[in-house]
Amino acid sequence: MRSPPPRKTTMPPTGISLTETPAAETIDVEYLGHPRAIASCLLENDGQLALVDPGPSISLPTLRQKLQQRGITIADLRAIFLTHIHLDHAGATGTLVRENPRLCVYVHELGARHMKDPSKLLASAGRLYNPGMDQKFGEFLPVPAENITALKGGEEIALGSRRFEVLYTPGHASHHVTYFESAAGHAFAGDTAGIRIEGISFVVPVAPPPDIDIPAWRRSMDLILSRHPARLFLTHFGWSENPAEHFEELRDRLETWAAQVREMMALPVGPTPDVGAHAPVGAGLADDARRMGEFSSWAASEIHSRMEREHAEHYVTAAGLDLSWLGLTRYWRTRPALPSDSTPSPSTSPAAASPLRSTKFSA
Ligand SMILES: [Zn+2]
Repeated sequence: MRSPPPRKTTMPPTGISLTETPAAETIDVEYLGHPRAIASCLLENDGQLALVDPGPSISLPTLRQKLQQRGITIADLRAIFLTHIHLDHAGATGTLVRENPRLCVYVHELGARHMKDPSKLLASAGRLYNPGMDQKFGEFLPVPAENITALKGGEEIALGSRRFEVLYTPGHASHHVTYFESAAGHAFAGDTAGIRIEGISFVVPVAPPPDIDIPAWRRSMDLILSRHPARLFLTHFGWSENPAEHFEELRDRLETWAAQVREMMALPVGPTPDVGAHAPVGAGLADDARRMGEFSSWAASEIHSRMEREHAEHYVTAAGLDLSWLGLTRYWRTRPALPSDSTPSPSTSPAAASPLRSTKFSA
């Protein structure tokens, strides 16, 4: 580790802030020019520096600039803590390692192989985002195996004298982890905590394909809460100060969205029927694409009903509502039917034949 660079912030070199809470500084990478969309977090102790989720490489110029404003270069970083490997969280990692080959990258073992060889990840993400994936995220370079520390959950990571417990928190992604620093009460929860723009009391899930798992997500929220965090750090976006309330709202909305998707999936598929004036609500939905639009409009209307327009538009953009439709339909279609299920399994519905089923991976 090189000696720490001169700092221009109020964060003293010991990493202990004026409030005695270990330093964790939000870096807004201003994704595609949008503030408060993607946050990285800068951790420091004893001259050692780490980033939680550096963001996509398209945002690297801003990340680099904001580190420089703090007297930090990429070469000064020691570690990258990845919550998961989706492109908007992890995309810049390989580029950062190429620039600083001493970087240690922490990632769950199920994501580690895709960081070493992102070809399948990128092919799958391309099915969701192309054309235009490169313009949305930039390059995603492989990370050499020697830079990667694969995690299972249960480990403790040291940064100077600071300690971070690794919690395995699948649900949003099968390879998602949360880093919990008990000394500060900070849980770096990534997308397990959904989307909540700092300062606005509204939480929505983000549920893209391919491995949304609602029971696992519930358990992950319980696991984080079992540590009694004082604050959550979200990539989208920033700090949330009341974790119990936050997860209660997220849990409720996730259940509501999942039920809504399931209900819409059970509607007839095919040419828009001539159903007359007594048609059930939604009976005219012809296919998955139309249903996806209906779902996104339904979710967006609730968001708009809860806040002023400018903030609502921010949420709708950040949430990628179409992706949550795809992720939740995949969840229902691939989930084994339970004996207690009172409605037909979506896996047997005509909608299961939709080409949208082939979606494999998201960012
Ligand atoms: Zn994600």
